[in-house]
Amino acid sequence: MRIDKLLANMGYGSRKEVKKLLKDGGLQVNGEVIKDGKVHVDTEKDTVMLYGDKVEYREFIYLMMNKPPGLISATEDANEETVIDILQMDDQIFNPFPVGRLDKDTEGLLLITNDGQLSHQLLSPKRHVPKTYFAVIEGEVTERDVEAFKEGVTLEDGYYTKPGDLVILKSGLTSDIELTITEGKFHQVKRMFESVGKRVVYLKRLSMGPLGLDEDLELGEYRELTDEEVEMLK
Ligand code: URA
Repeated sequence: MRIDKLLANMGYGSRKEVKKLLKDGGLQVNGEVIKDGKVHVDTEKDTVMLYGDKVEYREFIYLMMNKPPGLISATEDANEETVIDILQMDDQIFNPFPVGRLDKDTEGLLLITNDGQLSHQLLSPKRHVPKTYFAVIEGEVTERDVEAFKEGVTLEDGYYTKPGDLVILKSGLTSDIELTITEGKFHQVKRMFESVGKRVVYLKRLSMGPLGLDEDLELGEYRELTDEEVEMLK
């Protein structure tokens, strides 16, 4: 790949800015100062240093965030803080975006990447990727609800959901549950409970497909996926 393109892709500036830093002698490839942006580098073999720092070339970034409440799942917003705003600048140069949405008040596993193909695969309705949520529900969740969710329920707009796997962890004035669904309609978990006359008061996503939330991540923290985790998702 041309060195000027590589640096621009990696977020080191526009083509014009990259040209200037090359002219200034900031770049070395295998120890040699390179001023010509047309020079090709082998991203596997060549050592590229910019002002003494190694440039690690890669196309994609894959992050797992424990989304805190209060942030919106978007790349940018005029009024609200987004999940991308809290990433380190180094991670932002990849132009990552959240894979699907969690509501502003929902917590838990959010995948953030710039790999459009993987994102599409995970969100495609054809793939039925299961997502598991933990929720606290106002009111007593019963076996009738478990049965209803197993059949699929009708949401207020008439949409009939695919079956959901509801597990009651604790039942009482408020109930703790886990729900696995294979679709991602807007506010789906909340609306499924509304359809049986109950209200979600706390919602956290625990997993998406084979990927579980790393419980070591505090709210608002994130980490890169391991190569194995990325492979698992593909
Ligand atoms: N279902 C919801 O209702 N909200 C979410 O954030 C995710 C699933």
